[in-house]
Amino acid sequence: MISINQLTFTYGDGTFRLRIPQLTLESGRSAVIVGPSGSGKTTLLNLIAGILTGSGGELRVGNTDVHRLNGNERRLFRLRNVGMVFQDFQLIDYLSVFDNVLLPCRIHPSVSVTKELRERASSLLDSVELASFERRSVTQLSQGERQRVAICRALLLSPRIVLADEPTGNLDPVNAERIVRLLLSETAHSGATLIMVTHDHSLVPHFDLVIPFDQFLERTPGEQKHHNLGGGAT
Ligand code: ADP
Ligand code: MG
Repeated sequence: MISINQLTFTYGDGTFRLRIPQLTLESGRSAVIVGPSGSGKTTLLNLIAGILTGSGGELRVGNTDVHRLNGNERRLFRLRNVGMVFQDFQLIDYLSVFDNVLLPCRIHPSVSVTKELRERASSLLDSVELASFERRSVTQLSQGERQRVAICRALLLSPRIVLADEPTGNLDPVNAERIVRLLLSETAHSGATLIMVTHDHSLVPHFDLVIPFDQFLERTPGEQKHHNLGGGAT
């Protein structure tokens, strides 16, 4: 379960403040975040992943209070629990498509590259129609193809939480639909929680829950609302 209580975050220059009074998402559920550019959607994903730390309040993932972890503990927490599809993909240019997908096991402290993981990497690439591109450099891919590589990489180790930041932003409607179905079926299969950011409202009905993000902007009047998402106890 992901549980947020009075979470606040401010970038160093103080120009942007995010405040989320309350948000709860049960394990294994899927949620979609929609909201205007600049409202803090990417910032929230980075907070949940432990890439950023809040300035106040509580952010719990399962039994872990992410705020209380030090930098190294947060890195381990992320490697063990979170698969992230970054808005700008963050692929490694000097590695092939295949090696980019396998990257999580190379940086994970206790996972090594096994035959099974190689087969899983191939099967994920096949499911997004990139099987014939395995050996290609990621610098020789279109934006949409790079995005699909980033999605395969996030799913490789079947993480408990998948955070996908506009993962269909560069895709045509057919591929966008296919990617959302892949994210939903992979996370449902492993019992993982999925949080996806999108501007594409046609994708919203696929998800259990919708988190409209404009409600969290400091200037909006609705910021005291209590948001209990996922139907369970907070
Ligand atoms: P969204 O993903 O909803 O478009 P972001 O979370 O990326 O929004 O950004 C929220 C706000 O924080 C924006 O106004 C953005 O300019 C600002 N911001 C993002 N990253 C930084 C940073 N590293 N330093 C200062 N401000 C930032
Ligand atoms: Mg963003």
